[in-house]
Amino acid sequence: MTTTELETVAHWIGGERLQDAERFGDVTDPATGAVTRRVAFASSADVDRAVEAATAGFAAWSAQSLARRSNVLFRFRELVAARAADMARVITAEHGKTVDDARGEVQRGLEVVEFACGAAHLLKGESSEAVGTGVDSHSLRQPLGVAAGITPFNFPAMVPMWMFPLALACGNAFILKPSEKDPSAALLMAEWLSEAGLPDGAFNVLHGDRETVEALLRHPGIASISFVGSTPVAKFIYETATAHGKRVQALGGAKNHAVVMPDADVEIAADAIASAGYGSAGQRCMAISAVVAVGAAGDALAEALEARVDAVTVGPGAEPESEMGPLVTDAARDRVVAAIEAGEAEGAELRRDGRGLEVPGHEDGFWVGPTLFDRVTPEMSVYRDEIFGPVLVMLRAETFDEALELVNSNQYGNGSAIFTADGRTAREFEQRVQTGMVGVNVPIPVPMAYYSFGGWKQSLFGDLHVHGREGVLFYTRGKVVTERWPDQARGADYGFPAHR
Ligand code: NAD
Repeated sequence: MTTTELETVAHWIGGERLQDAERFGDVTDPATGAVTRRVAFASSADVDRAVEAATAGFAAWSAQSLARRSNVLFRFRELVAARAADMARVITAEHGKTVDDARGEVQRGLEVVEFACGAAHLLKGESSEAVGTGVDSHSLRQPLGVAAGITPFNFPAMVPMWMFPLALACGNAFILKPSEKDPSAALLMAEWLSEAGLPDGAFNVLHGDRETVEALLRHPGIASISFVGSTPVAKFIYETATAHGKRVQALGGAKNHAVVMPDADVEIAADAIASAGYGSAGQRCMAISAVVAVGAAGDALAEALEARVDAVTVGPGAEPESEMGPLVTDAARDRVVAAIEAGEAEGAELRRDGRGLEVPGHEDGFWVGPTLFDRVTPEMSVYRDEIFGPVLVMLRAETFDEALELVNSNQYGNGSAIFTADGRTAREFEQRVQTGMVGVNVPIPVPMAYYSFGGWKQSLFGDLHVHGREGVLFYTRGKVVTERWPDQARGADYGFPAHR
């Protein structure tokens, strides 16, 4: 089949599919290596068209009452819940993760939709009676206008759902630019929102690469940019979009550490760390990628992790027995293989090597098996760089303070975890660690929708995290009204009004 005969993943603008384009990208099935679809890439003229549709959508949507907006989100919630399995299959076919894992991400996204159904509670302002004689004040939170979201490949449903449910609940219109590697889930969301009663133009999807993103960042009709992806791109997005007067939250990459204390239960810690390190082939922003074993914990933990690695079933995400799928693209596979080669060359102890893994019947899939390095040191590239693959690196520390210092001197600050049986050590970690999300005997501490998600340092550019209360603050701006209803003219007063 030639690429022009393949199904085209279309844009969604003003409630309609639009698949004409001058440029297209390939979408592959990571388990087979086959190109299965092509995706239209939006030009700057398409971006203009989407902003025009979104501006009209904003006028229609923001005029609707809170009750009507909430009803649309409730209906959308019901549609996603009923069709979660369909969405999971679409995700697996393009991302490669197991269907179970894909269902998990739909569920976590759905929790934000559920939170957004009740957002009216957080949109309430404050009110003060008699701030001056016969003068009252109250505050409002109003939508920004057209908000845009640019999202990564690793959670094609959940990460967009971190953004648009709250943006919409607050009365904004939204333009989503999903990852071009797995674009189809975004289109399902667009169709289901429309079916739920969202006015045309209030939610739009534009596919594309850097060219499309740059047109969004510079467009004067877009008020805000929410971004999730790698750190260099997050920094570029933040700098460019703020220079164009936009409000920006840009979440970047990660190197999440798990500190394992000598008093921790090694089997419990190994189960948690292996799941968090190798689940979704390590392609999670909250994956554990660095383990710091303190004191005597090291040898037993390394052996326990080896046992888990040896038992992982790697295979196509659509097969129920698979526990870990392939990498997303051949380029991702090659990058991970190169990172393992670098670790070996730098002298790290390679205890399990996932290179060259073959999955019978799927020889052209983008496979790398679970890989475990031990005795890694902080200057090695396998420690410094985000690998974003199924590669766990283990470092050894003599003391808790040494382990904490390692975590805190890393450039990233997304998540971290400690495994210990001692409450005082856990509390000390929680207080002093410099990451935005912390787990105590919990390896992937992804906050619930009613808390906010975000990291510190090079893992976040901007001030506000996504969803929860901070999401509402991000997608609204404040206004304070001061009013009086005088019954008679009292003469001009040229002093500064002091409301007495
Ligand atoms: P990416 O940065 O390559 O791409 C993210 C988005 O930006 C995509 O939509 C892509 O089309 C676009 N993009 C890529 N290069 C661009 C460029 N030069 N200019 C403008 N736009 C560009 O990230 P990815 O590979 O899709 O996703 C993996 C990365 O995302 C990892 O670094 C991971 O840690 C990170 N991530 C972070 C979080 C978080 O919450 N902090 C969550 C998920 C993923």
